[in-house]
Amino acid sequence: MKRVAVLSVHTSPLEQPGTGDAGGMNVYIVQTATRMARRGVEVEIFTRATSSELPPVAELAPGVKVRHVVAGPFEGLGKEELPGQLCAFTAGVLRAEARHDPGHYDVVHSHYWLSGQVGWLARERWGVPLVHTAHTLAKVKNLALAECDTPEPRMRVIGEEQVVAEADRLVANTDVEAGELIKLYAADPDKVLVVPPGVDLERFTPGDRAAARAALGLRPDAAVLAFVGRIQPLKAPDVLVKAAAELLVRDPGLRSRLVVLIVGGPSGSGMETPRKLVELAAQLGVSDVVRFLPPQGGDALARVYRAADVVAVPSHNESFGLVALEAQACGTPVAAAAVGGLPMAVRDGVSGVLVDGHDPAAWARALGEVALRPAYREELASNAVGHARRFSWDRTTDALLAGYEQARQKFREEVFA
Ligand code: UDP
Repeated sequence: MKRVAVLSVHTSPLEQPGTGDAGGMNVYIVQTATRMARRGVEVEIFTRATSSELPPVAELAPGVKVRHVVAGPFEGLGKEELPGQLCAFTAGVLRAEARHDPGHYDVVHSHYWLSGQVGWLARERWGVPLVHTAHTLAKVKNLALAECDTPEPRMRVIGEEQVVAEADRLVANTDVEAGELIKLYAADPDKVLVVPPGVDLERFTPGDRAAARAALGLRPDAAVLAFVGRIQPLKAPDVLVKAAAELLVRDPGLRSRLVVLIVGGPSGSGMETPRKLVELAAQLGVSDVVRFLPPQGGDALARVYRAADVVAVPSHNESFGLVALEAQACGTPVAAAAVGGLPMAVRDGVSGVLVDGHDPAAWARALGEVALRPAYREELASNAVGHARRFSWDRTTDALLAGYEQARQKFREEVFA
């Protein structure tokens, strides 16, 4: 295999994850693309141009190009308006390929349903297999909506069903997601490939907790509960704030050292905080313990994980939850909602705790048990590192490349049948 076309219509791999539409999918694409290139497979990632300043082609890493496709106005276009630009985007992708010799790409890998629609056409035009990763599924999301969230539209459901039917391979993060594709979307089980995502084990390593706290201006004896991610109803950062209020009701003495660290930027509709979270903290009388940080990258993010006693992932749904793995790789236990891929990302009672539902009292109990019982926390923390090490982007990349080869083989058999 020489070259892969990766489609990432709605968010660019060059963006900082943790705000807007940029999250785990961006990390996934960057990590796997750079590793594919190291294995000698060139990767070209097509994404929508969101500024006139962007060059048509940028180099993300040696062997990895990002192609900016002009499709609709550069700025001010919401994700919900993107279906109207898919024709323009597809035209841009096909035009870029037409400048090369036939057979330029060996496979097209689309991420999220919008890209799947584009990949469907590219597959037909180029005569190469389409591999698709959904990242999230509308039917699953609609079954687990947060109170203030808006349901995903029928247009997306239909679009996803079409991509599931047309793709040659469907990559799922976990067996749970594979089951959802099969049960809710009638995917052909033979097409579904389970590939667990990874974690950057060079960047996310256990480190000096006291130094991390000092760098963040936190007291050495603080009880630090952290949330890292895009701030949106689905991620339920409000549950952490409510649980913190509950902990303070139970133990007012904790107020002098409790810190709730919320790291990330607003994304999507509803609780498009931090503004709404700021209001919630004020209503609950816990503004003094809640601290917000803008999205962090590089070593700063690892520092946040190291500084925390526990990282909370209270999401209503999560196809995997990279944040949970990253925190554990840094030696920090995770309290996660028992939904989606999180029970795979966190080993209940071993590397963290799983919480059923979103009742603040239950979350306060779980967070308190980990953060306020040092011996238990230490036990979970040491297991967390080992658990995270079972995942790696190298393994993810190898599994994807094997999946591409299978898809090519099957595609050839079908064409020549
Ligand atoms: N992230 C980041 N900086 C932040 C917050 C989040 O780089 O301030 C990254 C985080 O490291 C993780 C990704 O965003 O890799 C979020 O992935 P996850 O699977 O947890 O959630 P998603 O965004 O896919 O819903």
